[in-house]
Amino acid sequence: MDSARTPTSPSDAVRITAATGRALATEAVHAGRDDLAGQGLHAPPIDLSTTYPSYDSRGEAARIDAFAATGAEPDGPPVYGRLGNPTVARFETALAKLEGTESAVAFASGMAALSAVLLVRGSMGLRHVVAVRPLYGCSDHLLTAGLLGSEVTWTDPAGVADALRPDTGLVLVESPANPTLAEVDLRAVAHACGSVPLLVDNTFATPVLQRPAEHGDRLVLHSATKYLGGHGDVLAGVVACDEEFAGRLRQVRFATGGVLHPLAGYLLLRGLSTLPVRVRAASANAAELVARLAADPRVARVHYPRIGGAMVSFEVHGDPHEVIGRVRLITPAVSLGSVDTLIQHPASISHRIVDADDRRGAGVGDRLLRLSVGLEDVDDLWADLDRALGERAPGAIPLRGALSGAE
Ligand SMILES: *Cc1c(COP(=O)(O)O)cnc(C)c1O
Repeated sequence: MDSARTPTSPSDAVRITAATGRALATEAVHAGRDDLAGQGLHAPPIDLSTTYPSYDSRGEAARIDAFAATGAEPDGPPVYGRLGNPTVARFETALAKLEGTESAVAFASGMAALSAVLLVRGSMGLRHVVAVRPLYGCSDHLLTAGLLGSEVTWTDPAGVADALRPDTGLVLVESPANPTLAEVDLRAVAHACGSVPLLVDNTFATPVLQRPAEHGDRLVLHSATKYLGGHGDVLAGVVACDEEFAGRLRQVRFATGGVLHPLAGYLLLRGLSTLPVRVRAASANAAELVARLAADPRVARVHYPRIGGAMVSFEVHGDPHEVIGRVRLITPAVSLGSVDTLIQHPASISHRIVDADDRRGAGVGDRLLRLSVGLEDVDDLWADLDRALGERAPGAIPLRGALSGAE
């Protein structure tokens, strides 16, 4: 990157979403709530029903047949909570609007969402996956271990086209990637995929900074546990996609049971309403910390993506475990995307499950720390980081050009 530019100015966020002609910030607070005023409601109702009474079992049979055929959401109330839930559906509607896709399907976690995508393709006999490292540690593990019967070929973005086989069911990339913040040219990779669906894990960017469907990517994945929920109190996943794929995902969700709880659906819808402001404010903090880290002699290298965002990674000259042990305001914890700042050591925690050579080969070094920047005052955050980085070597001068882009 050239400099720590201020990311996501408000004008970026005012870009119009194709589906409705409304701006993203408007959709964030209104999508999924269109029917409320007509019902005399302001806050969305929470429907905790697991089952739905019906005196018309012929009608229910027809609705079940229709769901089995297409996976379309049943008209009227759901038959059973595993087929769908009205509160969760509000979150799905809203997220689809923000990502600019026809539909979205929510799951119990990001990993449940990724699993459902693999099961959809695997059940069609398309078990081969082409993927680009780094990925979130458990996504890497799920593919490498072949837990769902898939077989993976790892490649770099330029190698995607050559890695495709007749049985390739999916191409998977993360951009910016966890934890190196490496970026992938989504338009180029989508082109290289041809007719094979490209799944972009958009957890780090959120639709505020990047909407992969606009680049022709068919499937957009979120660990909604992170920015979409945004407060560290909901575990969830979601796939935004066209309605045809969504139908298959709902059928897999129905059969395998990785559903999202309605209370989580409610919290996620609420989280979306502040997503643009949270992402913009945390990104401004992150850009400032990037500038200070890059000028600090105790820091060997800073990773920050061109599109900006609230995730920062940096390599220290000293012992990264010491840095983790010294933070006081910042919380030393895995996960990310909350209102408060978290720091963790990927080689020990988030990417521990990835084989050490594969991990290092993907650029996840042993001195790399990953910071999820929150909404605290930036000077308070810097004071904590400054203390945690430890003694400045006497006479040390800042490294020139220490700040480098996530190539
Ligand atoms: C956390 C994370 C996941 C997994 O999501 P869970 O909600 O923890 O299951 C997937 N991808 C990325 C980029 C993540 O950060």
